[in-house]
Amino acid sequence: MIVLVVNCGSSSLKYQLVNMDNEEVMAKGLVEKIGLPDSQLTHKWNGQKKVVQQSIPDHQVAVKLVLDSLTDAGCGVIKTMDAIDAVGHRVVHGGEEFACSTLINDEVMAALEKCSAYAPLHNPPNIIGINACKAIIPNVPQVGVFDTAFHQTMPPKAFMYGLPYELYKEDGIRRYGFHGTSHRYVAGQVAKVMGVPVEKLRIINCHLGNGSSLAAIKYGKCIDTTMGFTPLAGVLMGTRCGDIDPAIVTSVMEKHGLSTKEMDALMNKKSGVLGISGVSSDFRDLGDAASKGNERAQLALDMFHYQVRKLIGALAAAMEGVDVITFTAGVGENGIDDRAAICQGLEYLGAKLDAERNDVRGKDTLISTDDSTVKMYVIPTDEEIMIARDTKELVSK
Ligand code: ADP
Repeated sequence: MIVLVVNCGSSSLKYQLVNMDNEEVMAKGLVEKIGLPDSQLTHKWNGQKKVVQQSIPDHQVAVKLVLDSLTDAGCGVIKTMDAIDAVGHRVVHGGEEFACSTLINDEVMAALEKCSAYAPLHNPPNIIGINACKAIIPNVPQVGVFDTAFHQTMPPKAFMYGLPYELYKEDGIRRYGFHGTSHRYVAGQVAKVMGVPVEKLRIINCHLGNGSSLAAIKYGKCIDTTMGFTPLAGVLMGTRCGDIDPAIVTSVMEKHGLSTKEMDALMNKKSGVLGISGVSSDFRDLGDAASKGNERAQLALDMFHYQVRKLIGALAAAMEGVDVITFTAGVGENGIDDRAAICQGLEYLGAKLDAERNDVRGKDTLISTDDSTVKMYVIPTDEEIMIARDTKELVSK
């Protein structure tokens, strides 16, 4: 079975064509700047790369271009579009409607539209991507895989906010959590690497990238996570502020005469390690600046490491203990110094980092000492393979 995995953003489309007989990635690529003057497609196959620069006014043209590349005589990997058995779409928000991946039909599309109210930036492009695929390959089954779904097992005491109950009932104000597909992949993968069933492990997964979230996965189920109603909550991130006193919002808006839109941009785009350092949202730049003595870059890093460590403690308490801590995504997989700084002082929990083993980037690796009672691992995430696996499973049924 051949599955096309599609991840649509507002101006981008990432794709992977996966042969599900052996989970081999046959081709992958990225369409950037859809609807902008300098749009382009970067297509990779068999260790080769091709860049196509042309006008890509909308997502339907982008999908067409991707399918043309996949079937092209030169850079293609399949003969015709008919070789594609199913399409799996990443969808950011599934609300309370979707606790697992689902085959897309008209009813599901209607429910997705409803969920857009919760993720006005993310869901509409996901829906546009699904419609674009439906228009071009109408007979191919499509599956939606939701970032929020894995977190639907959280109990009410973890997902409710201390606000009037009606806001939950009427407006759906609650913690949803995000990066669920990544958290689910890493939990399954670390269990596999350890040779222990996931049902026997209490895992804290630290997904640390541009956006960061931690999840407490107790015996295979998510019981709590650090992102909330939106992906703005939890640890401070590249440009997002993370958890702040909610009263700051009204106070700053009032004092500086900011509109809701401006306040939203301040918290989502101008905060986090960028806002603190004034240098960059990129952790590599911060490391460089800090090593040259930039104090604000160092402060941003200190805050990030401290907050991640503090949240590890909170999630360990939530699970009444922890067996495994995993690190994934850009910073989690590559940030050797970041992992070392986060783990400093976690020994009380029984988590001891091995400096030599920690000197690793981007591969499944044990990084704790032999006498560490809590095992620690680097596990590179792979959301695409999860989407492809779910798609295969649902379509095979
Ligand atoms: P996204 O959330 O956009 O998927 P990624 O998971 O790709 O983000 O993470 C991007 C972050 O990972 C950037 O801040 C980048 O600096 C960081 N990163 C990548 N490589 C390294 C590295 N070698 N050391 C530290 N941070 C790194």
